[in-house]
Amino acid sequence: MSESNYAFRFNRPVKKLGLILGDQLNQQLVSQLDPAQDAIIMLEVLSESTKPTSSWQRTTLFLSAMRHFASDLQTVWLKESLHYVSISQRCLDFAEGLQAFYQAHQQAFPEADLPQLLCVLTGDYSTKQSIDGFAQARGISIEWLADNHFMSEPGQFQKWLSGRKQPRMEYYYRVLRQQSGYLMNQVDGKLQPAGGQWNYDKENRKSFAKTGPENVPKVRYFELDALTQQVLEELSELVEQGQLSLAGEVIKLETLKKEGWFWPVTRAQALFVLEDFIEHRLAQFGDYQDAMWQDQPWLFHSRISAALNLKLLDPREVIEAAIDAYENRGAPLNAVEGFVRQILGWREYIRGLYWSYREDWLETNHLRAHRDLPSFFWTGKTQMNCQSQAISQVLQTGYGHHIQRLMVTGLFSLLYGVKPQQIHEWYLGLFVDAVAWVEVPNTIGMSQYADGGIVGSKPYIASGAYIQKMSNYCQKCVYNPKLPAGEKACPISTLYWDFIARHQSLLEGHPRLGMQWRNWQNKTDEQQVAIQNRAQWLFENIEVV
Ligand code: FAD
Ligand code: SF4
Repeated sequence: MSESNYAFRFNRPVKKLGLILGDQLNQQLVSQLDPAQDAIIMLEVLSESTKPTSSWQRTTLFLSAMRHFASDLQTVWLKESLHYVSISQRCLDFAEGLQAFYQAHQQAFPEADLPQLLCVLTGDYSTKQSIDGFAQARGISIEWLADNHFMSEPGQFQKWLSGRKQPRMEYYYRVLRQQSGYLMNQVDGKLQPAGGQWNYDKENRKSFAKTGPENVPKVRYFELDALTQQVLEELSELVEQGQLSLAGEVIKLETLKKEGWFWPVTRAQALFVLEDFIEHRLAQFGDYQDAMWQDQPWLFHSRISAALNLKLLDPREVIEAAIDAYENRGAPLNAVEGFVRQILGWREYIRGLYWSYREDWLETNHLRAHRDLPSFFWTGKTQMNCQSQAISQVLQTGYGHHIQRLMVTGLFSLLYGVKPQQIHEWYLGLFVDAVAWVEVPNTIGMSQYADGGIVGSKPYIASGAYIQKMSNYCQKCVYNPKLPAGEKACPISTLYWDFIARHQSLLEGHPRLGMQWRNWQNKTDEQQVAIQNRAQWLFENIEVV
């Protein structure tokens, strides 16, 4: 760290210092501070892009959204009270940035007390630990605020979880439905779910007709502005100088100048994306939420996860907009309930689980997966069309919808046996909406079953037949999803059967997986040997598959 990189200037001593992180771009912390005596600090630190290696899309989105947020704050906060360190100032991590601030403050006001540090609970346990460690080592008083962005009360999930042998999202979701009154009606003096059912999932698993999805709405591109351009220029310079390395497709400034960018970086843009979803996509969201199609990244999904996770949007306003569409704009209940379930159910449940197990997640490897992530995860270059589609899309956009994450890239990694830590770092680094609290349980728990059943009661396994049913990927693939052995065999199908053979003890007596074990047993010895030989070949040759 060179002195000139951190030119903190003060015109008065600071009483409280509010640290606003890149995924905390709402007013919660700001509302606790007084511009006349307190200060705000925002740090674009290198470690957020290097541990693990982050993508162009993710880094640009986070930094641009932070700069827009800070720029809005400037209408109330004077320059001397709003301290912003940009990525080009090469601050390594939060501890280094805070240290530089406190050092400068002490030099300016040797007689003044050290400012109290005020933070909202982070989205990543290790960040909290490092901030706590910094404050403790220097005798700085620190106050943590519970995060009011979420609908669960602080401690509510842990209380609900304790004593439950088999916690499941569905039951926590019902608690929150009753508590919030969302999609609930009074019937004969009793609170009942709208439409009489809690869940319309059965209606929400359709695939597209052979002709493909119809009338997929176009995604709105937002005009490139000076702040996003500045971020890109600074990132390009750091990359050119060898100070930073980013994954995914390079975002070209010239292209953005011509076309704009599809990720919202301000609250106003995020609200536009939300309204666009409610008006043009929500009605189809339910039916097709699991479906996939060649070269169609967005389909009828909301693509608001990044805006939610950065807190440009509040989950309450999102849910209420969807319910309003059901009550007043003719949106079907299966779509609206399916969408509300994702946010009120999955999003809250996953966060509760993250904070219940914290760093333990990263140590789990229930299935003893031990293979390295194949290199095509960084290039998209594989003949497996489903993988190539899902991976190339992430490299280009930073996005994949839930089934692409769970049942394409996640499924391959699970069946092939990628080390959970490696696949976790891939998801965390590449997706624009990735923050540890939501990425870790989804990847390590839901998709890889490395936690042995905390998130889901069973591993999500399927053969190529599932991908064939839910997409048209197989039509454009050199492999045949129906074949589990031989040269043209679909690697997903081969690995699926081999996974079953390898995990007999997990599957044999399982109430929901026992059938798959019996199907394996029903194969002839010859079939089993052929599949296992092909699987062995795949393990040795995955880079050319
Ligand atoms: P939609 O399909 O339109 O769904 C609406 C919203 O529901 C999402 O924006 C999201 O906020 C919420 N949601 C849906 N499913 C989940 C879930 N399982 N957990 C939490 N929230 C959910 N989501 C992230 O936000 N960040 C991640 O890093 C992330 N990593 C994932 C990794 C894996 C392996 C898997 C299987 C899922 C992951 N998810 C993650 C969950 C989900 O895939 C994304 O939230 C969703 O695809 C985002 O796209 P969308 O906004 O178009 O969502
Ligand atoms: Fe994927 Fe197999 Fe279908 Fe090819 S045949 S797209 S590898 S599921």
